[in-house]
Amino acid sequence: MQATAIAFDRFKPLQDDACESRIVAGKAALGKRAVILGHHYQRADVYKHADLTGDSLKLSKLASQTDADYIVFCGVHFMAEVADILSKPEQAVILPDMNAGCSMADMANLAKVERAWRELGAVLDPDQAITPVTYINSAADLKAFCGEHGGIVCTSSNAKQILEWSFARREKVLFFPDQHLGRWSGYMIGIPPDEMVVWDFDEPLGGLTPEQIRKARILLWKGHCSVHQMFQVQHVLNFRNQYPEGMVISHPECNFEVCKLSDYVGSTDFIINTVAESKPDTRWLVGTELNLVNRIAEQFKPQGKIVRFMAPTVCMCSTMARIDPQHLAWTLENLVEGKVVNQIKVPAREAELARTALKRMLEVV
Ligand code: SF4
Repeated sequence: MQATAIAFDRFKPLQDDACESRIVAGKAALGKRAVILGHHYQRADVYKHADLTGDSLKLSKLASQTDADYIVFCGVHFMAEVADILSKPEQAVILPDMNAGCSMADMANLAKVERAWRELGAVLDPDQAITPVTYINSAADLKAFCGEHGGIVCTSSNAKQILEWSFARREKVLFFPDQHLGRWSGYMIGIPPDEMVVWDFDEPLGGLTPEQIRKARILLWKGHCSVHQMFQVQHVLNFRNQYPEGMVISHPECNFEVCKLSDYVGSTDFIINTVAESKPDTRWLVGTELNLVNRIAEQFKPQGKIVRFMAPTVCMCSTMARIDPQHLAWTLENLVEGKVVNQIKVPAREAELARTALKRMLEVV
């Protein structure tokens, strides 16, 4: 019989440092039965407890390889769904705070994507002409939609190769939910800007004419990341004026103009590796989430590298930050007591179709 869960209310008033020792004790008591996965954007006081860290692609692979009974995902909701889809049926995936979502993922939903597919059907046969590609930052039912319609998932590390895979099969791509990653990746494989059009999901036919749809190679869903949209061209220009020898590196969720002005564009793992491999005493402007930038600034300081955040304002992934030490301590203590809280379980049929789209991606890269 399952024990009754310990209520979160008992953890709410705890100070962060009081949680620290309880997290350490919880991890020690659980041993190999639990693994904590931590995304690069996770806040420092949670990130330091992660057994495995990485970007979405790396974490999705790690989730499929671990043998732990419990996978505690310190990331956001869609990441925990991916872990559940790729893990073994007997493993439990847990998101310490169910409110840790992703504002970008929420910009696309199944009803809107299905409506787009139907509306596109008035112009062409979508299942013959269009590969649906969803960024991993999306709900499981959208991954399932891609699995069902010959589509695929991508991450910011592999979007370029995934587009090549898609165009080898069908002439067009519907890319959701992030227009910026889609546009940058399309640009990287040589698609002219006028063959990439924005699909405005609030407008009939995406706000496009049948002619525009026929001419387009990539239909870009009108979604974005609220964190990365804060980085602007002026931030890059100011840095370049001040430090002409400095280097600029951005995540492809930044807008196209920022990416174009950057020396390097890539995923969080790419950003970390590029700064790590750079010469000592170099100066960097980094366009991605604040927790990650602060972490690498500290990490590479001893090498004389100066790493600066791109925007003058604070741009954190506030939804991921909801996973705080209180929620992590609460989750682990419940697991020690034999109670699984906040389990993420994708319905079987949806998981099967989503797995198809994810496996297609994992076979490409
Ligand atoms: S940084 Fe942006 S895209 Fe990434 S999880 Fe947070 S809201 Fe979503």
